[in-house]
Amino acid sequence: MSGLDGMRVVIAGAGALGSCLAFALARAGAAVTVVDPAPDASASAVAAGMIAPVFESVLDPETAIGFDLLRRAAGLWEGLAAELGVPLDRSGSLAVGGPDDLDRWTELAATIGAPARRLGRTEAERLTPGLTAPSGALFADIDVRIDPRAMLAALAGAIAARRSKVVGWSAGVAHLSDGERLAADRLVIATGAALDLAGAAPELGVLQPIKGHILRASGGPSAGAVVRMVRGYVCPSRAGAVIGASMEFGRADRDVEPDVVRRLADQAGAAFPGLELVSVEAQVGVRAATPDGLPLAGPSRTPDVWIAGGARRNGWLLAPLIAEALASALRGDREPALPAAFDPRRYG
Ligand SMILES: Cc1cc2nc3c(=O)[nH]c(=O)nc-3n(C[C@H](O)[C@H](O)[C@H](O)COP(=O)(O)OP(=O)(O)OC[C@H]3O[C@@H](n4cnc5c(N)ncnc54)[C@H](O)[C@@H]3O)c2cc1C
Repeated sequence: MSGLDGMRVVIAGAGALGSCLAFALARAGAAVTVVDPAPDASASAVAAGMIAPVFESVLDPETAIGFDLLRRAAGLWEGLAAELGVPLDRSGSLAVGGPDDLDRWTELAATIGAPARRLGRTEAERLTPGLTAPSGALFADIDVRIDPRAMLAALAGAIAARRSKVVGWSAGVAHLSDGERLAADRLVIATGAALDLAGAAPELGVLQPIKGHILRASGGPSAGAVVRMVRGYVCPSRAGAVIGASMEFGRADRDVEPDVVRRLADQAGAAFPGLELVSVEAQVGVRAATPDGLPLAGPSRTPDVWIAGGARRNGWLLAPLIAEALASALRGDREPALPAAFDPRRYG
């Protein structure tokens, strides 16, 4: 018998965090309803889907989570992807740059215990056809990739969802924008960078937006390892290469900026000369970040309201970890499954 049997949970937000949590809670016996007015416009839907504990630790100097926890989170994707019947792309990731970059990344990877090995030019270029890597590369085979849209579709097929907005919470009732009232034992707010529910959970007020552009090319490498660069990456895909991503701090608008698009395309074109010839579609998503760079995952100070958010640029990577840990905490397990550092109440 699970402590979640029959618990009525409303989740606001059907992005990576809300959907993975809904799946974990429903599997454990909770009666879950996910509410989202526009799941296709979420940051999760435009993301590249890299599940990359090694290179997120090595290439993102501001990451605060630490390699060991990112690796644990990535490990949970094996089981979740298999359960949902959505494959993982296990081609791995290559970081390319100048000799000094490669030396610095190799040393950092060794320091944090992240498994990565140096490759010469021929071997690196063989792993991702079309790549030019004159200085060779650093390769991580545990960095994998999911298809976010396929994953969201699989998750949506497994959970009860409503196209509406949660506009408030009072005494065990979630208020929806269409006038519906949903009685619930818990409300979980997983609304990404949106702050409309800060009245229900004041801790959301610390979240800052980070706008990101990402490009979907009509050609480019169709298979092989993800290629990471000093700023940006190219993910091979049969549907056309995915080129990312910018980080515009403090920005929540969704305007496509031509100079940002050009910069991303130029950088990708330098690594893949053929990419200069194909057209690209630009998309924008907005990430949510906390001041300390760690997620918000756990109870709010508001009774019966919980938060899953603030995952910055690792929402897909962290989603199964946060989902399992929140499910365990909601079940009342004695062992704390959530890192205390993720507690939303750390922000007064
Ligand atoms: C360009 C780009 C590339 C990225 N690449 C990667 C990557 O490769 N790997 C990785 O791990 N992460 C990546 N990320 C980060 C990742 O996308 C985010 O961390 C993650 O999507 C956050 O998920 P979320 O569920 O918290 O929020 P979101 O995905 O933003 O979802 C929030 C949802 O809440 C809904 N909502 C808002 N208000 C309400 C309300 N009042 N009621 C109901 N619903 C509401 C919204 O409609 C939305 O669907 C990338 C992000 C961007 C922008």
